[in-house]
Amino acid sequence: MRVWLSVSLCIIAVGVVSVANHQIMSDTAALPRQIYDQPYRVGLAVRDLKADVAIMHSELTDLAEAPSRLGLRRFEKRMEEIDGHIHVLRQAIATRFHGDAVLVQDAFVGLEAWNGVREQVVTAIGNGDNVTAYTLTKTEGYNQVKVVDEALQRLVEAANDHSKALYEDASDYLYMSRIQSAGAVLIAFLFLGGAAFTINRILVRPVLEISEAMTGIANGNLSTTIPHDERPDEIGLIARSSKVFLNHVIAIQESSIDLLTGLPNRIQMTAHIERVKARTRPADFSGFLLHVDIDGFVDLNDSLGRDAGDQLLKQAANRLRALLSDGDFVAREGPDSFVWFHLGQYTEAGALQFAERLQRLLEKPVQIDGQDLVMECSIGIAASEPGLPTEKFLVQAENAFIETRRQSGRSISVYTEEMDARLVRRRETLRGLRFALRHDEITPFFQPQVSARTGELCGFESLVRWNHPEHGILAPWQFLSIAQSAGLMGAITEIMISKSLAQLAEWRSQGFDVPRISLNLTASDLGREGFADRLMLEIERHSLNPDDVCLELLESAMIEDSDDPVSRTLNRLGQLGFPIELDDFGTGHAAIASLRLIALNGIKIDRSFVTKLHERPGQVKLTRAMLRLAHALQIKSVAEGVESVHERKLLLELGCDVLQGFGIGRPMSGSAASLWLEEFTPAMGRMLDVRQSA
Ligand code: C2E
Ligand code: CA
Ligand code: CA
Repeated sequence: MRVWLSVSLCIIAVGVVSVANHQIMSDTAALPRQIYDQPYRVGLAVRDLKADVAIMHSELTDLAEAPSRLGLRRFEKRMEEIDGHIHVLRQAIATRFHGDAVLVQDAFVGLEAWNGVREQVVTAIGNGDNVTAYTLTKTEGYNQVKVVDEALQRLVEAANDHSKALYEDASDYLYMSRIQSAGAVLIAFLFLGGAAFTINRILVRPVLEISEAMTGIANGNLSTTIPHDERPDEIGLIARSSKVFLNHVIAIQESSIDLLTGLPNRIQMTAHIERVKARTRPADFSGFLLHVDIDGFVDLNDSLGRDAGDQLLKQAANRLRALLSDGDFVAREGPDSFVWFHLGQYTEAGALQFAERLQRLLEKPVQIDGQDLVMECSIGIAASEPGLPTEKFLVQAENAFIETRRQSGRSISVYTEEMDARLVRRRETLRGLRFALRHDEITPFFQPQVSARTGELCGFESLVRWNHPEHGILAPWQFLSIAQSAGLMGAITEIMISKSLAQLAEWRSQGFDVPRISLNLTASDLGREGFADRLMLEIERHSLNPDDVCLELLESAMIEDSDDPVSRTLNRLGQLGFPIELDDFGTGHAAIASLRLIALNGIKIDRSFVTKLHERPGQVKLTRAMLRLAHALQIKSVAEGVESVHERKLLLELGCDVLQGFGIGRPMSGSAASLWLEEFTPAMGRMLDVRQSA
């Protein structure tokens, strides 16, 4: 507002001054004509008149000397001409000497007088009185001509005086008008200067300051403050809008740079690829994406602490940064994952080679808190395709990585279309599983175990099932690994513990003699805070004892480090009196080594040894060795997957204690197991006894 006011005032001032100045200048320009024109014209008229008077004088002389009729006529004609001249002169004098009436009057006195004499001369000539005419002409005429001449002379002088006075006036006027004009120009300049100063102070400078702040923002200086935002006018408006813009930039910046590693994030990666695409023809856009994920980062974070985890990520980021060259862009994608974009002609071999190089670099040992750590990583590779949306490109690399994780023993995979279908199924399963956990669709099935020798019931192994509303009963392989990778295993174990113990308690209350129930546990179950306490609570809730519940563990749950949370829980559970059995014995590598780590109560010989045992002499030797080992350690041996009489016979001969398999009973729902129990007798347990069935 102030700006517009001062600009308008300036325009008005300059307008007024220039109009005034124009008036002054045109007035002064007109002056010289007025001044010089007047005496000049008077002079001309007077000269003419004087000439006329002179002619008149000579003609008068002629007339006086030889008056005649002809002379008289000529005389009269001449007099008329003189009258004409006088008339012109009168007019000239009258128009140019407005105020000077006396002077004009004076000039014409002689002429008026002469007019009187002229009448008399004409009359005298008319009467033939030449003497009178001559005398009158000679005396009065001459006199009057003289009078006129003198008057005219005076008139010329007066005109000159008048013009001189006029000239002097005009010079004064001119002088004054020049001063006025100069003053006006000065005022105009002052106004302009003032306006320029005001405009500069209230308009130009603030705009420059705001634009300087904006340039700072563009250069990445986000601590810039934007001035003039308090002003109520348009400048304030610009400043406030700029401030909103700055806040947006800060928000975008904060959300697009990872503060821990300083790497760009996924948003920036997307933007970068979009930029590259924008300046390349779709057909020429070629490159690949790597999705790099640090294996076991969550566990490391849990066991070594967040600080160590952060350090590890920083080191990983630094190593990646050091590998950047032209056409590369790297971003932190998730908590323990990075994406790498490489622009350049794609070949699968080239991409694999690069991924391996990156992997070697990341997997070099890192020093954290004085410890040497090795971060292994899994990588997914996706190749660019013309017209492939950036978001899909990123997802493909991630899907390839998920595939890498899924297939143990692989550390790099290249994306293929089939991965998508698998992943879609996986995601659907996961969504369904979350629903299942909330809607009581997870339930245990029970598979009986009997004594090889007596056929008596030893217990049931509790095996998880998903009672799917559409697909019916689903087996563990259909959902368990997904649950594990999605972190849902804990919830499943809790349900399995609670329902299995409830079932055992119910059977006992119904009078069935079920000595125990076996639960399958993973290392992650044992690693969870308070697991042993919760298990004990469940035991007490159902009035059971720890030795009613056998815990089956895979070798992978046996960790050498006795200070590890998993080992600590395992030892505690052992001390509490839970029988612990090693599952799938014989399939792992460290099985024998793990036997000495913990007080194990039994081993479960894997189905792969048991199936068709009697047809494979090599397997028999191995099974015998395992069973001897169990005997030597004085622990129980369980064989799983017993389907046929032959297997059963051999296992009994080899000295196996407990049998489990379809040959004895399939895994059954709780109610089916109750019916099975009602009919079950030790004799039936021995029914596959080789002596009877042979
Ligand atoms: P596992 O612990 O080795 O369980 C034995 C598996 O062998 C069961 O498969 C059972 O149905 C199958 N089986 C038993 N006898 C025979 C037989 O005579 N012939 C054949 N062909 N198979 C037989 P299932 O129930 O599909 O379980 C597969 C695996 O899933 C289990 O192997 C176990 O590792 C895991 N699992 C099952 N339930 C749970 C659970 O509640 N928690 C955990 N952590 N894992 C579980
Ligand atoms: Ca098992
Ligand atoms: Ca097993």
